[in-house]
Amino acid sequence: MPKVHVSLGPRSYNIEIGSGNLREAVKFCDAEQEDAHAIIITDENVDKLYSETVGDALQESGAQIDVLIVEPGEQSKAPEVAIDLWEQVLDQGADRKSVVVALGGGVVGDLAGFVAATFGRGLRFVQIPTTLLAQVDSSVGGKVGINLPGGKNMVGAFWQPRGVLVDVDVLQTLPVREYRAGLAEVVKYGVIQDAEFFAYLEANVAQVNSRDAAVLAHIVERCCRLKADVVEQDEREETGLRSILNYGHTFCHAFEAATGYETLLHGEGVAIGMMCAARLAERMKRVDANFVERQRRLLEAFGLPLDVPDVDRNELVELMYRDKKVERGRLRFVLPTRMGHVELVRDVVTDDVLAAMLE
Ligand code: ADP
Ligand code: ZN
Repeated sequence: MPKVHVSLGPRSYNIEIGSGNLREAVKFCDAEQEDAHAIIITDENVDKLYSETVGDALQESGAQIDVLIVEPGEQSKAPEVAIDLWEQVLDQGADRKSVVVALGGGVVGDLAGFVAATFGRGLRFVQIPTTLLAQVDSSVGGKVGINLPGGKNMVGAFWQPRGVLVDVDVLQTLPVREYRAGLAEVVKYGVIQDAEFFAYLEANVAQVNSRDAAVLAHIVERCCRLKADVVEQDEREETGLRSILNYGHTFCHAFEAATGYETLLHGEGVAIGMMCAARLAERMKRVDANFVERQRRLLEAFGLPLDVPDVDRNELVELMYRDKKVERGRLRFVLPTRMGHVELVRDVVTDDVLAAMLE
């Protein structure tokens, strides 16, 4: 089984990737130990599909289990839901021997991880990501958190899991739009860090679109490795290195904010944002037209939207100035110099940003 080791000193852990390996989550939970207790946190959709397999495996190896279910969707990443989960975790008599198992997409991972990080002095935490986005992105890096009415991910922590179990078979039940949205982040890793991987994706479009298990296992392994390489050098987002992961995201965050987080899935915003960033880089003579075209063709082949949402461009720029990526009043963008390499570019001219969104 492919494995990715995330090396973070005492917080190091493994990501195990396979097909049909859901039951192996047990090995991260110390289920055979006396008084083993696993609290599975999941959402209604994932509960119906996969709770039983995971829960049975844990029970058979001797753990006591509890399953806490939240509503699907971003609105569950809320303080009220966290309070409710803290109270349920308390009722279940959680102690240092308990382990929180996050079974679901990015929403469940962020929320369950946040509850694990904050309950008591912190509970052990295992991730079983079930969306492509969560498998390639949210399961590496240790960022957990919830939203406030005034801002996404405003309350959170860095809380590394003890292990991550990826079963690519669960992606078979993922709605196609969610699946494609995850592919945007996959393409992103190729553009920012690995030209060879980008070419691999180009050569395997049909297998990717048909969700071929072997191709998916390779994709998840490669993306987790690439993200781990960055996170290992900048665990807490202090050196600036981790910002390369934000390729396309300054644009994306503006689209998400302007459209109210409902029209676009995150990955769709990333795809459109990467196109804007690539065109911006072309305007600034950092890449040629061929680069932009190559990226466009791959995103299009994966069925991703590429057109900037129909909102006032000036409003989008204003939103960017309010984003975290602004430094002393100047917009900063992660821009490519060639396939597989990006740089953080300061002093980007607003007119170029506007133009990059118009094409
Ligand atoms: P993301 O990982 O993109 O942040 P969410 O956690 O919001 O996504 O999950 C997206 C949607 O997909 C939710 O409605 C969730 O219940 C559903 N979902 C998650 N994993 C699966 C799966 N393997 N099969 C079917 N639906 C799933
Ligand atoms: Zn993202």
